[in-house]
Amino acid sequence: MSPPTGTDLCFAAQERLEAAGIENGYRDASLLFMHVLGEMLGERVARHHLAQYLKQDASPALEAAFRRAIDARAARQPVSQITGRRAFWKHEFRVTRDTLDPRPETETLVEAALELPWRSVLDMGTGTGAILVSLLAARPGCMGTGTDISEAALDVARGNAHLIGVTAQLIAADWYEGVTGRFDLIVSNPPYIALDEMAGLAPEVRDWEPHQALTDGADGLTAYRAIAAGAADHLTPGGHVLVEIGPAQGAAVATIFRRQGAEPRLIPDLDGRDRVVLARFGN
Ligand code: GLN
Repeated sequence: MSPPTGTDLCFAAQERLEAAGIENGYRDASLLFMHVLGEMLGERVARHHLAQYLKQDASPALEAAFRRAIDARAARQPVSQITGRRAFWKHEFRVTRDTLDPRPETETLVEAALELPWRSVLDMGTGTGAILVSLLAARPGCMGTGTDISEAALDVARGNAHLIGVTAQLIAADWYEGVTGRFDLIVSNPPYIALDEMAGLAPEVRDWEPHQALTDGADGLTAYRAIAAGAADHLTPGGHVLVEIGPAQGAAVATIFRRQGAEPRLIPDLDGRDRVVLARFGN
């Protein structure tokens, strides 16, 4: 029997992934094929070169490595965790099981932040560092601090800052505990899924992403209460807070910020859902 080509492997993998409940099995199979091939070649394979590789016979080593990647995906591990990378805003970030996978809707927050005047930024619960590093890369010369309660996540964020070439202070902290100084801007994509919504999440999220990055184990609003309560003490006069929210949380989060004396405004994502709350704190 002649060895399978890359195309043969990808079609077989598509069937397996779709049987495991994954839509677009071929897309994931080909992304993982490109990743595995790149690892074997020791260099990234460009998408426009993929077709040429797919026609070739796959070596037993490539076939075995691809099978491992497809096994992981069939177990619903997110593609970004298998490849260890995820594109966000203008850069590519390293992603592990210790961090939330940066999502496209979070780019709404980055875009809003870059419309504000600030020279210093605090990112609470930074995870991969996607928000903080994107902001600092876009504003050279600005100062940034990122916090997380997970040391493993901080390591990932430090690696990303280094790779992308920005300097950020990355410290272990539980919301404001351990954070000193004042900032022009405070940003966060905190855990906002209510505990009773966790069971309904996609397996990729529920079974593979760190729960402490997803849920507060309560009503999904705990982090906003903490962020809003400490904001005035950690902002420079006229400073802003930008937080990502779940689409149904706009009114509740706006109320939390209003109670702390801020003027909140809701910003929609590209799908038109409420996604970010911008809160301006007066003097
Ligand atoms: N946006 C994520 C999701 O819906 C949740 C991220 C978060 O809680 N910050 O899976």
